[in-house]
Amino acid sequence: MEFNTKLLHGITSKGYEKGEILPPISQVSAFQYEKMEDLERVFAHKSNGFAYSRIGNPTLNSFEQRVNELEGGAGAVCTSSGMSAIAVALLAVCNSGDEIITSSALYGGTINLFGDLNKLGIKTVFVDDFTEDNLKEAITYKTRVIYGELISNPALKVMDVPKVSSIAHEAGIPLFVDSTMATPFIARPLSLGADVVIHSTSKYINGGGNSIGGIIVDGGRFPWDFEKYTALSEFKKYGKFAFMVRLRTDLWENIGGCMAPMNAFLSYIGLDTLGIRMERICDNAKALANALSTLSGVEVSYLTLSDHPYHEYVDKELNGYGGGVLSFRVGSKERAFRVIDSLKYSIIASNIGDLRTLVIHPASTLYSKTRREDREAAGVFDDTIRVSMGIENIHDLIEDFVNAINESAN
Ligand SMILES: *Cc1c(COP(=O)(O)O)cnc(C)c1O
Repeated sequence: MEFNTKLLHGITSKGYEKGEILPPISQVSAFQYEKMEDLERVFAHKSNGFAYSRIGNPTLNSFEQRVNELEGGAGAVCTSSGMSAIAVALLAVCNSGDEIITSSALYGGTINLFGDLNKLGIKTVFVDDFTEDNLKEAITYKTRVIYGELISNPALKVMDVPKVSSIAHEAGIPLFVDSTMATPFIARPLSLGADVVIHSTSKYINGGGNSIGGIIVDGGRFPWDFEKYTALSEFKKYGKFAFMVRLRTDLWENIGGCMAPMNAFLSYIGLDTLGIRMERICDNAKALANALSTLSGVEVSYLTLSDHPYHEYVDKELNGYGGGVLSFRVGSKERAFRVIDSLKYSIIASNIGDLRTLVIHPASTLYSKTRREDREAAGVFDDTIRVSMGIENIHDLIEDFVNAINESAN
């Protein structure tokens, strides 16, 4: 089955109790039982029922299973937000004293989260790029995970997943990939060698800008060494599934980062159109990037442009697509603000992955708490405008951006 067919007719898109076409919304806190013994079995994980929505909910399960099928995973847990997914995934494998290796091209919130983890004694080692030399130098006996974004937001650096995962695996370390910007339409990191995939479902998976959420998908293949991964040692009997079992029955449940059932439903129906949205969004982004790159005084960053440093990965890893985010520099913060304010069809908002085109000045918003060198390493300069491409008609968008840029020149 090709992508859209699998999306609509995959094994996880049916089988609801009363034949519903979509999963029913179990908008409840708790589930009732006739007999105390039945609830006891659920708590002991001896039967598949539900007890309390922080611990498990059928609408959440439907959403999890569908994303899991698209990513080719062995199991998934959905969370209240993308940040919550990243936090619990890392906390599930790292104890105080352990280290995480990451690249500096990261989402701002994730950079800030690494600051919080540092206060708990979990240190992050930043490398400029995931080159073999940088990684081999950074890996120590304390390293527990290599973490990075498949396409970084907004620097648009692309991780060479086969290369990075083989270096990681040689050292007995798993690779966790934030694939929010790529989505399973553009790439499936597990099939490229990653061990765990994380999404902020708030973005392209939901697609309509109507709910915050996250998901962690485990490939179920990493051979955990329980002497080294003491964070998982209680879950040793689950072998390769220890990570997923710890998340599900321990950390995720205890931290309380569950997704709301209504959000799981909205994200589930958002997923229906992921393929056609992404195709349109990527086509629009490419056309706008091409148009803006002909203007003088404007420096455009988009993956399909032949001068982009990660251009070769479009065909190598990204199924021929460049994703939905582009950015451009216009010379000064003041000019960037003038351009943004005069756009007619783009909404000023701090989000990506909406159907509507969104624009933002990241340096003064998403990265205002991030140190200058960190944000510049993440591709955010004082004059950078980030565009999250929507599905509007491209001629209107190009005309609008070109006018706004030309008018802002004085
Ligand atoms: C938005 C985003 C996150 C955080 O997700 P939330 O749902 O906002 O918590 C993490 N990683 C990337 C790449 C993102 O774009």
